[in-house]
Amino acid sequence: MSYAVKECFLTLQGEGMQAGSRSVFLRFAGCNLWSGREQDRATAQCDFCDTDFVGTDGEGGGKFASADALAAHVEELWGEGRENRLVVITGGEPMLQLDPALVDSLHKRGFKVAVETNGTLPAVTGLDWICVSPKAGTDVVQRSGDELKLVWPQKGIDPVELERWNFDHFLVQPMDCERRDEAVAAAIKLAMDRPKWRLTLQAHKVVGLA
Ligand code: SF4
Repeated sequence: MSYAVKECFLTLQGEGMQAGSRSVFLRFAGCNLWSGREQDRATAQCDFCDTDFVGTDGEGGGKFASADALAAHVEELWGEGRENRLVVITGGEPMLQLDPALVDSLHKRGFKVAVETNGTLPAVTGLDWICVSPKAGTDVVQRSGDELKLVWPQKGIDPVELERWNFDHFLVQPMDCERRDEAVAAAIKLAMDRPKWRLTLQAHKVVGLA
């Protein structure tokens, strides 16, 4: 199997329960809920995306002919030292490309493998951390994992319904949009009204990391 990677770089995880952790971010190209083209946004299943996942031209991106080649690229970006190796695999939608061979190759190099997915495709086995971020109007099949990250507000999603899903952590993150102040207020309100939810912010944007 070959892999199309938009970008891949060393950074600090900015979101969720692992915020602040040194990690290699591996962003796969492509998503099943939006083409990534602005002219398609209004009719996309997911219309609030803040990510460029089109092509393979980003920092550290490219086409990789095998799982081993891509895992070696991740390891090179991490550098020396085997302590707390973490790779965060995202997209686009990572489950379009991520397979057990890549998970195995990363494990052999000592990495914990975390994914951030929209949950519309089942997660591959062997993952160390599953973060699902549901999108309104989609059929989420991956209803278990480590953290559920709800970008808020979204019409058509009921947080009370989501609370029945099988996750260890329930996080609400203000939508990064033009009405940012309203989104922050709505996220705070949800966390205050329903204590199962914890407010999370995009720390990488606050401190100016990619
Ligand atoms: S599912 Fe995620 S990657 Fe895909 S369009 Fe929505 S926010 Fe962007």
